[in-house]
Amino acid sequence: MIIQLSNNITPQQKENLLNQLSELNIKSNEVKTQFRNYIVGIPKVDFDIRTIGNMEGIDDIHRVSDDYKLVSKKWKTERTIIDLGDNVTIGGHELAIMAGPCSIESEEQIENTVQHLLKNNIKIMRGGVYKPRSSPYAFRGLGMDGLKLFYQHCSENGIKVITEVMQVSQVEEMLDYVDIFQVGARNSQNFNLLDILGEVDKPVMIKRGMSGTIEELLASAEYVFSNGNEKILLCERGIRTYEKAYRNTLDLNAIPILKEKSHLPVIVDPSHGIGLRQHVATMALAGVVAGADGIVVEVHEEPEKAFSDGQQTLYYEQAEELYNKARSLNVVFEYIV
Ligand code: PEP
Ligand code: MN
Repeated sequence: MIIQLSNNITPQQKENLLNQLSELNIKSNEVKTQFRNYIVGIPKVDFDIRTIGNMEGIDDIHRVSDDYKLVSKKWKTERTIIDLGDNVTIGGHELAIMAGPCSIESEEQIENTVQHLLKNNIKIMRGGVYKPRSSPYAFRGLGMDGLKLFYQHCSENGIKVITEVMQVSQVEEMLDYVDIFQVGARNSQNFNLLDILGEVDKPVMIKRGMSGTIEELLASAEYVFSNGNEKILLCERGIRTYEKAYRNTLDLNAIPILKEKSHLPVIVDPSHGIGLRQHVATMALAGVVAGADGIVVEVHEEPEKAFSDGQQTLYYEQAEELYNKARSLNVVFEYIV
């Protein structure tokens, strides 16, 4: 159950409400986000919702029986639009495109990528400075020095930055240099990290865990929301299956299901999803048809020289063709459905 409190609820009205909830044996969790205040009630037994719905100081009350509640579409039917400022939004009619290298490698590489994005009117650049790598000997990112350069060049050019945060201790230092925090697949259920990201007023894109279910992804998003941050994006990036012909199994089914279950925008990552450059564009387009609100793709001037994930990284020309097709497909798709 979700109770949307009125903005001018008096302390007395709130106390009455909390008393009523505890009388009904409903466990109540107060949630205060950057937008408004809620009480998430967990009833143990069935009760008449009108006993609470008629109380003073409440805007609305909804029954939500799923384990995830605030991110559910059962109470919020209009879709969430994430506003990054400067007219950059995610979740509206326009397809969001995020592109950039797997890893931030050098200032030259940042400048070069920024030029590619400007040329294609792309407003969000991806790039990791803290890289989760299977081997400890692989390149693990430039850290804060890289992030500062990344943010500086992007903000000078009106481009927003999305980058992965790997641990709780990094959140504070990264905060001023990030427009969207990415939670990687390996951290999808790092609940401490999700808790902290719920306390900041920056959008968070949560990638689905490698063996994570759709419900688990939604529960991870619930951690962020219930800690106070409503600005959340969900990302399908492929799951690990028995199939070895490609890197991961991009679960396109997840896209309509997530959009059916949640009001949050859904992003598709075909780069990690299939992991093979020659098929990334096709799967990106498939994701758009499946209803994704945006795509995130890896691109590099010279993918064969990329410090990480070169095999799934697009050449600029390939990427440009994809951006154009994805944008026109998005328009057609919206028209059809
Ligand atoms: C990435 O975006 O480069 C990345 C490491 O993604 P994932 O967490 O999906 O593997
Ligand atoms: Mn990568």
